[in-house]
Amino acid sequence: MRVAVLHETLPGEERVALVPESVKKLAGAKNEVWIEAGAGEAAGINDRDYESAGAKVTTDRTQLLPAADVLVCVQRPSPSYMAAMRPGSVVLGFLRPLDEPTALEPAIGLKLTTFAVELIPRITRAQAMDALSSMATVLGYKAVLIAATQLPRMFPMLMTAAGTIVPAKVLVLGAGVAGLQAIATAKRLGAVVEAYDVRAAAGEQVKSLGGTFLEVDLGGIATEDAGGYAKELTPEALQRGRDLIAKHARNADVIITTAAVPGRRAPLMMNDEAVLAMKRGSVIVDLAAPTGGNVTLSRPDETVVTENGVTILAPLNLAATVPFHASQLFSRNMASFLQLLGKDGQLNINMSDDVVGPSCVTHQGQVVNSRVASMLAEPVGR
Ligand code: NAD
Repeated sequence: MRVAVLHETLPGEERVALVPESVKKLAGAKNEVWIEAGAGEAAGINDRDYESAGAKVTTDRTQLLPAADVLVCVQRPSPSYMAAMRPGSVVLGFLRPLDEPTALEPAIGLKLTTFAVELIPRITRAQAMDALSSMATVLGYKAVLIAATQLPRMFPMLMTAAGTIVPAKVLVLGAGVAGLQAIATAKRLGAVVEAYDVRAAAGEQVKSLGGTFLEVDLGGIATEDAGGYAKELTPEALQRGRDLIAKHARNADVIITTAAVPGRRAPLMMNDEAVLAMKRGSVIVDLAAPTGGNVTLSRPDETVVTENGVTILAPLNLAATVPFHASQLFSRNMASFLQLLGKDGQLNINMSDDVVGPSCVTHQGQVVNSRVASMLAEPVGR
């Protein structure tokens, strides 16, 4: 199986899909790995490191794409890259199939098999391939650091000769993978942390990290689906959450919002009024920006300073700002997934595999994911 990695082209994308450690592993399992020269540079990895790990490094993209059995990428490749690939070859990466399904339409006509890492099922067997969790870990960590650098205060409680400094108060909204990492990072920096989530299971996890879990009566409705994800709430339940958040936001120095419902717009957790009642100098990082944002006043990839002096950040691609470790985690996830696509060094796609099948968007000229098919009004293939 010939696996190719290109230099990512999205502005600001500094991650690379495979790092030398994974190249070595893949090469040891009878695969060839071709890397475009300079692909790892922004993540601190040079071409020599790839060559030492057993990769062939080439500057010739026109040679690399038609030769590849699998193109592994962080972001979805451009239509012209897809067009240069052979029918039957594979594209694997963050393909955004539910956010931008039409962008995958070229893959149908080109008969490319596309696997979206967003669709990899979160079952025990696929845990090592869970790139969403890997990136959420990076996001939760980095969100706290950018908030700390914006804040006109320090995080820890300090007892100095000049007297005591009180610790910062951090409120985390949504205590999933990113939220829990934000709580852990804020605690390590010495902040006092509160968190809110609609899933009851999140409460124990918040407490085990030393945070205070905020609870609200949502009227006994089901808040969690069978897969352990939050459900889309009723308007009334959402409002009860917002009222509780608004009350606690008034005392917070930093708010990190991470609330998401898979395949839906992010829930609105803070309206204008809640933000305008916060303290001057406080900071909000809205990590839900890529799916519409949790805060009405946040603007994607912009820094907003409100009339009452609250700074709101809404980064769209924060994981790319920690390219070394984000690439390392993503690459390990991809190397695990690639093991399922090859047999004896040959591409061998088994659509009945319980990880491979559900992760696939297009195969042999058809859309095989029913949600994507209905969004594109295409018949579902097999
Ligand atoms: P996510 O990114 O979809 O959502 C982030 C958080 O927002 C979730 O905790 C969710 O409950 C919360 N949320 C949604 N709507 C909300 C609202 N209106 N108010 C407050 N909070 C709201 O989720 P995620 O972080 O990717 O994962 C969530 C959970 O999924 C994990 O904590 C875990 O239980 C499960 N999970 C399982 C696996 C696995 O088994 N391999 C892997 C990852 C996650």
